Amino acid sequence: MFQHVEAYAGDPILSLNEAFGKDTRPNKINLSIGIYFDDNGKIPMLPSVRAAELKVVEAAGARPYLPMEGAANFRTAVQHLLFGADRPAVKEGRVVTLQTVGSSGGLKVGADFVKRYFPETTMLVSDPTWDNHRAVFEGSGLTVKTYPYYNAETGGLRFDDMLASLKQAEEKSVVLLHACCHNPTGVDLTQAQWEQLIPVFKERNLIPFLDLAYQGYGDGIEEDAFAIRLLADQGLSFFVANSFSKSMSLYGERCGALSVVCPDAAQAVNVLGQMKAIIRRNYSNPPMHGGQLVATVLTDPALRPMWEAEVVAMRDRIQAMRKALHDVLVAKVPGRDFSYFLTQRGMFSYTGLTAEQCDRLKEEFGVYLVRSGRMCVAGLNTRNVEATAAAMAAVLA
Ligand code: PMP
Repeated sequence: MFQHVEAYAGDPILSLNEAFGKDTRPNKINLSIGIYFDDNGKIPMLPSVRAAELKVVEAAGARPYLPMEGAANFRTAVQHLLFGADRPAVKEGRVVTLQTVGSSGGLKVGADFVKRYFPETTMLVSDPTWDNHRAVFEGSGLTVKTYPYYNAETGGLRFDDMLASLKQAEEKSVVLLHACCHNPTGVDLTQAQWEQLIPVFKERNLIPFLDLAYQGYGDGIEEDAFAIRLLADQGLSFFVANSFSKSMSLYGERCGALSVVCPDAAQAVNVLGQMKAIIRRNYSNPPMHGGQLVATVLTDPALRPMWEAEVVAMRDRIQAMRKALHDVLVAKVPGRDFSYFLTQRGMFSYTGLTAEQCDRLKEEFGVYLVRSGRMCVAGLNTRNVEATAAAMAAVLA
C-alpha cells in the first residue's frame, strides 16, 4: 500500500540536534539549533513567565475550545506589542491578528491564504533564508524564488543587488523579509535601508511578508518592531508572522501570531474571516495555555517590565559571547577578519566555515554547527567559548 512513500531525508537542523543528543562526549558543544541557552547551557524558564504561569494556573477553570482566531486578550496584546497601541493602522481597525501554533503556524496559515487569493504569485525569499521558509511556502503550492541578500566576501549585505532585484519583481510578488536578526546570517537591514525599500514595494505593488522570530534579540523589543511600524505607517498592505519561542523561551508551547495589515477595516473583516476558515481546515483552533502565559506577561503591569529586563539580559549575554569568541579567534588566527561576529546580530552568525570544516568541528571536536556554517551564538557560554574558538582555529589552520 505504501511502497510509493519515499523515505524522509529529515530536517537538517533537527537531525543535527538529535545527533548531538546521542553524542556521548562530555565536552560536546551544541551551536546548531536556534535555541537560547543560558550561561549554564540550559534553556531558561524566565521568571516573568513562571510568575504568569502561576497566575494562569490559579485562575484556570474549564477548558473550552478557543475561537479559530485564538484568545482575544492574546490577540490584542500581541497587536499592540508589534504595531504600538496608538498607531493609526491599529486605531482604524485595519490590522487583523490571529493566534497561531508558533510563528511556523502563522507562516503556514499565511502561505495558504496567499495561495488561495494570489494563486499565481511568486514568493521571494532572501538568499539564503531559514530552510523552512521555502518548505512551508512550497508546501502550500507556491513558487519560491530568491533575491540577493548575503555577501559571502564581506559577511555583510548585498543591498544594491537586493534593491535592483526587487525593482524587477513581478507585481504582487510576496517578499519574505526577516524583521530583525536574520536567520541564518545575522545580517540585518539598517533603518535607512528599510526606508529605501518602501518606494520599491509601492511602485512594484509588492506584498511584504515579515517574519519576526527574534524580537528583542536585535536592538530591543520596540526597536526590533521598527520595520513593522514603518510599513504600517507608510500605508502598505502586508503580513507579519511573529513568535514568542525565543523572546519568552516558550519553544514547546508553540506561541505565535499572524497579523495582516489591510487597506481598510472592511477588507480586514473579510481577511479575518478567510483566515479563520483556513485555520478551521488546518487545525481548527490554537491551544490555550501558552497563549495565556504570553498575554499575562504582556499585560500585567509588574510582569511586563520584568520580561523586558530578561530580554535585555539574554541579548547582552549573546553580545558578550560574540565579543569573547571574536577576541580569542583574533588572537589565535592572525590575519583573518572576524569582525562579522561583532556586526552580525541576534542568535546566528554565518561563520564562513565550509561544510567540510563543520564536519571536522563535529567529528574531531564535538562542536556542532549547521553545515552551511551557521552558528547559533546563543549556545556559547563562559565555559565553552574558548574551546569553540580553539576548535575553529584548528580547522581554519
Ligand atoms: N522564522 C524564523 C526565521 C525562525 O528562525 C523560526 C524558528 N527557528 C521560526 C520562524 C519558527 O518559530 P516558531 O517556534 O514560532 O514556530
